[in-house]
Amino acid sequence: MTAAAAARQILTRLTEVMASRMHAQAKLDQVVEIIGECLSSEVCSIYLLREGMLELFATRGLNQSAVHVTRMAIGEGLTGAIAQKVETLNLAEAKAHPDFQYRPETGEEKFHSFAGVPIVYRARAVGVLCVQHVEPRRYEEVEIEALQTTAMVLSELIANAELVDEEEARGLTQEQTGPQTLTGLTLVKGLGAGHAVYHQPRVEITQVMAEDTEAERQRVYRAFDKMREQIDTLASQAEFGAGGEHEEVLETYKMFAYDEGWSRRINEAIDSGLTAEAAIERVQQHTRMRMREIDDPLLADRMHDLEDLANRLVRIVAGQVGTAASQGLRRDTILIARNLGPAELLEYDKRRLKGVILEEGSLTAHVVIVARAMNVPVIGRAKGVRTTIREGDEILLDATAGNAIVRPLPQVADAFQARFAKSREKQAAYASLRDVEPFTRCGTRIQVMMNAGLRDDMSALAMTGADGVGLFRTEFQFLVSATLPQRERQLRLYRDVLDAAGDKPVIFRTVDIGGDKSVPYLASEIAAQDENPAMGWRALRLALEREGLMKIQARALLEAAGGRSLYVMFPMVSEPWEFDAAKAVFDEQLNYLRAQKKLLPERILFGAMLEVPALAEVLDLLLPKLSFLSIGTNDLTQFLFAADRANPKLAERYDWLSTSILRFLRRVMQNAVGSGVDIGVCGEMGGRRLEALALMGIGYRRLSITPAAVGPIKELVRKVDLAELTAAMTGWLADPALNLREELSAWADARDIEYD
Ligand code: PEP
Ligand code: MG
Repeated sequence: MTAAAAARQILTRLTEVMASRMHAQAKLDQVVEIIGECLSSEVCSIYLLREGMLELFATRGLNQSAVHVTRMAIGEGLTGAIAQKVETLNLAEAKAHPDFQYRPETGEEKFHSFAGVPIVYRARAVGVLCVQHVEPRRYEEVEIEALQTTAMVLSELIANAELVDEEEARGLTQEQTGPQTLTGLTLVKGLGAGHAVYHQPRVEITQVMAEDTEAERQRVYRAFDKMREQIDTLASQAEFGAGGEHEEVLETYKMFAYDEGWSRRINEAIDSGLTAEAAIERVQQHTRMRMREIDDPLLADRMHDLEDLANRLVRIVAGQVGTAASQGLRRDTILIARNLGPAELLEYDKRRLKGVILEEGSLTAHVVIVARAMNVPVIGRAKGVRTTIREGDEILLDATAGNAIVRPLPQVADAFQARFAKSREKQAAYASLRDVEPFTRCGTRIQVMMNAGLRDDMSALAMTGADGVGLFRTEFQFLVSATLPQRERQLRLYRDVLDAAGDKPVIFRTVDIGGDKSVPYLASEIAAQDENPAMGWRALRLALEREGLMKIQARALLEAAGGRSLYVMFPMVSEPWEFDAAKAVFDEQLNYLRAQKKLLPERILFGAMLEVPALAEVLDLLLPKLSFLSIGTNDLTQFLFAADRANPKLAERYDWLSTSILRFLRRVMQNAVGSGVDIGVCGEMGGRRLEALALMGIGYRRLSITPAAVGPIKELVRKVDLAELTAAMTGWLADPALNLREELSAWADARDIEYD
């Protein structure tokens, strides 16, 4: 008999039992007989969870007097271990296993081999099905598969007969895992509390046995087709575009999606009588078991990919293709995902989305930039997410500290809420500074502007009272769309942004795409060129060569600003001629629009970003051409220190408060004095309080920062005496032996100035 035929036979017999009018206990008694017979096993037993213990509910081969008497705690003995770890065991010699525990009342001493599988209900183990044999032999793959299939059927019976009630299943989880703390990398600071929602929800399998095998085969066949199509599209768009790592994942997805072995195994499972959903899950359970036995970290990563894909396949089969966003969020939510695209994040209801936990992610991932703009706390690179967090679990996310408490104890939740309330109080205090102009104690007005990139961000301008938008990252629109945004769409966005800003200035930075901010329509060109994306074909370098792209943007900006002031800034200028070339594109478009008799901007102010250190050496050539200069400290510092800004291993290594960075920035400022060019900083650095102090202390009077930092920085400005601060900074920078962070902290402490 073939494996499928044997499995089919078991399933047919199980179906008959399940369909009969027998009592649940009688059904279990029958099931152990059928399995024992079909697998030629002397023993077959079913343990189910009752009052937090695994109780022997039915057995063939062990002493009948042990039924409803033998009870094991979760984690106790082989049975307990299977339930605890929700994993399959297949042992030739049970006694040799460290978890083995002998129970005299069962009379099991004569049996050597042992195999057991968890009975899973709602992603939790609610029982164990096991077989034992006198001869010491490992069970064959097909036999294990038959057990796994039976366990799935049993879970359906258990649900229908209410043999394990839901409270019980939940009780198990509490006991099994209780409160847990996950750690990860801080991507967007902040606190958030809510219930876990998986971006891609798991499908509950409600029907295990098929009524029409051919129909199931067709369903899975179509699902495979659809999934392959999706993966191919994903690979060609690479909308999440986070470079190398992401591409590798897609390659793996592709490999699995087209893997003949995988689809064959699913088909065999269907042949044995399972529904398509159950077949996919059964094959997945089996693969999980084999992968655990191999215990190779690289393979474990690949397993992750396969899990993702299997989930996708089940969702397609079940017709539940939407993400959690399409179902809407019903309560305060912490969103869980492996990774997300920026557009996917934007689909969620902002009012309910309180935080995000990613299994991947890095500081410069687009989704993170968008989350920062949305003010949603995020941690990334969180390990053990899927095994720890279940849909609906309560989560306290402290993204500032880089951790999340899952299923917190009440007193922990209370303490968190108290902290939360404090931080909200602070936010409210900052909000009250909205209409207060940031003058220092000595009466100098500091420009506190905000960074933005999406239409939605503009509401923060009024909320924070920022002096304008010091950096509008126009590439965000490019990043969140699957195709190159047409001129009309760009025009509409720029016009809306200017309308929203009213009298306040908005500095539009021309597209800074390429490198790590790859977009689908340019991905192949960029990937082909760049070994080292941050220093590659990006920003102005790309835009000047893709002149069409630059022209369209120039025209859209010029038209949008008809009748008002237009501020344009070019990113990554490395030599003055690049500025000239970029400006020439605008001049040409301006002439065109003039000839067309279009309404032109009242005035146009051109500026450059200083992000490439070389530019600092030729400022005397560049400054006469500029109205303003903005220092992009994110890129500048990565180039000064030759330290990739996206590499988490280097994230803590070099300090923005290092003597070299601050001396560099001071020199730039000194070289610009008297040029009439307005100089500011628009990197993340300016949004941190000690760093902002340092910048003010070396002469900077304009900062453009993330909206959430506007309040805190305004408050800081009001406590500063610039003469005193400048004197202190001058002293510290003259003596590089000092630790500037410590000196500055002590200085701030002494003046009752709060810092992060
Ligand atoms: C910078 O590099 O500091 C900057 C503001 O630009 P971005 O972060 O968009 O590269
Ligand atoms: Mg930059």
